[in-house]
Amino acid sequence: MSERFDAILIGAGHNGLVCAGLLAKAGKRVLVLEANDQVGGAAVTRPFADGYSVSSCAHLLYQLQPAVSKDLGLKLDYAAKKMETIALAESGNHIRYSGSEVDGVSDEDKKSYKAFHKRMSGFADLLQKYFNKTPPRLGTKDKKDLFTLAQLGFDVRRMGKTEMRELLRLIGINIFDETEERFSNPALKGAVSLDAVLGTHLGPRSPNTIMTYIYRLCAGHGAVSLPSGGMGSVTQAIAQAARDNGAVIRTGVRVKRVVVDNGRVAGVETEGGETLESWIVVSNAGPKTTVMDLVQTRHFETGFIRRVNNIRAKGNAAKLHLALDGLPSFKGLEKKDYGQRLLIAGDSDYVERAFNPAKYGRCSTEPVMEITFPSVHDKSLAPPGKHVMSAIVQYVPYGLHDGWDESAKEAFKQTAINTLAKYAPDIADKITAAELLTPLDLENEFNLPGGHWHHGELTLDQFLFVRPVGGAAQYAMPLDGLYLCGAGAHPGGGVMGAAGRNAAREILSREK
Ligand SMILES: Cc1cc2nc3c(=O)[nH]c(=O)nc-3n(C[C@H](O)[C@H](O)[C@H](O)COP(=O)(O)OP(=O)(O)OC[C@H]3O[C@@H](n4cnc5c(N)ncnc54)[C@H](O)[C@@H]3O)c2cc1C
Repeated sequence: MSERFDAILIGAGHNGLVCAGLLAKAGKRVLVLEANDQVGGAAVTRPFADGYSVSSCAHLLYQLQPAVSKDLGLKLDYAAKKMETIALAESGNHIRYSGSEVDGVSDEDKKSYKAFHKRMSGFADLLQKYFNKTPPRLGTKDKKDLFTLAQLGFDVRRMGKTEMRELLRLIGINIFDETEERFSNPALKGAVSLDAVLGTHLGPRSPNTIMTYIYRLCAGHGAVSLPSGGMGSVTQAIAQAARDNGAVIRTGVRVKRVVVDNGRVAGVETEGGETLESWIVVSNAGPKTTVMDLVQTRHFETGFIRRVNNIRAKGNAAKLHLALDGLPSFKGLEKKDYGQRLLIAGDSDYVERAFNPAKYGRCSTEPVMEITFPSVHDKSLAPPGKHVMSAIVQYVPYGLHDGWDESAKEAFKQTAINTLAKYAPDIADKITAAELLTPLDLENEFNLPGGHWHHGELTLDQFLFVRPVGGAAQYAMPLDGLYLCGAGAHPGGGVMGAAGRNAAREILSREK
């Protein structure tokens, strides 16, 4: 054994950095070990073609918790704030929405959307409050747990009978039925459906998709921003705050295993053969990776291992990055519109049809997309006069039925470009370079388990009290000194920093 730290963090994703920063701020001697050469995990900016850079996984900021910014004193620069969403129609008759306002639909739909957004945002506000708390354990007599449970009950009750009933009715059902009942405009139904299923292995007809829609509205009610310099600038700022508080961050160091001594963690061993001592090890890696690979199963009970092994994390979101000679000509878009968030979602049936092949390990033949042209706002990302397109494309299964190889990737890249060409017929002529990152690439390059946005599906059986699994939902794993701080823990993924902050607070309250 060599150097000793108060806490060692495995991974410098944004959650690991938040956790490290807060532990260091509290006076702990903290070391962060990151396998990649860059900090930020799935929120980084990196070059993908000569002169062109892009936010490689996450590309829009909309859930960063104000408490995280406050605690770490973050000051972020934005290239664009509160971007509008434009749901594209092949005809060019697009609809647009921002906050609770929607344009391009009937007056009836406008009214209905306003009421729907208000209700969903109200539920999101309730959930948001618990994003910043450790979920209570069920069935204990611990005062803190009982208090949080009582508070949750009180907060739900305080919404009033109607809202309380609605929440209970809606939380487990699907977004498809709700959009069918409320709206008549097909594009609006499609866009709301896509907002509910981005980053999941769910289609609009799947249960839990109202919950995932509410989840998306947490923090900013869905208002999306583009940080200057891409998402990497956010994680660089968090890393700097952690360093300013005294945390040491080492990149290019992969942790091979967690050292366990006498039934508790004692440090980590790196792939380079270095051993570093600490009684506290906090993992920003996925829960399954942490338990099965880094610690190893023999240190846990069989029942716990079974639950961890059953965590579902099948990534379906791919990233498509295009280096463009100039902006393509989308039918019905004005120049200023290219700076907004664009969706290809057809209607809710289109989104469900896009999901269908993924159930059988095949890619969508007509994918859904969330598209941005960040270079419209941020000149640092492309050479003068040129542009970058960044798109999340679904559904692209992690476990492709016939396996991923270059030809499968090339075929899907072409499918995605053909889909784009229905809206922007000249797009192929503008492309000078293209990068497609499948969920398997995301796992290999960013260590994202299953290439999954949330390190584990976001459904009621893997949420709140049981995220990642029962017996480990309070950041502390059932092995003394071992904690989780990433998207696989409560409340889940998205660049929000809540899991990292909650984990730090939990560690500080337990390990005095
Ligand atoms: C395609 C895609 C698009 C997305 N788009 C958005 C978006 O627009 N907006 C949004 O808010 N969210 C988005 N997300 C989700 C978001 O990126 C993630 O939920 C979030 O980044 C997770 O952060 P984290 O810190 O918990 O984990 P991660 O970012 O996954 O970080 C974990 C870190 O741990 C490191 N690590 C793992 N194992 C080891 C080891 N053994 N040794 C050392 N280091 C290790 C990894 O290299 C990584 O740096 C997207 C995700 C994907 C996949």
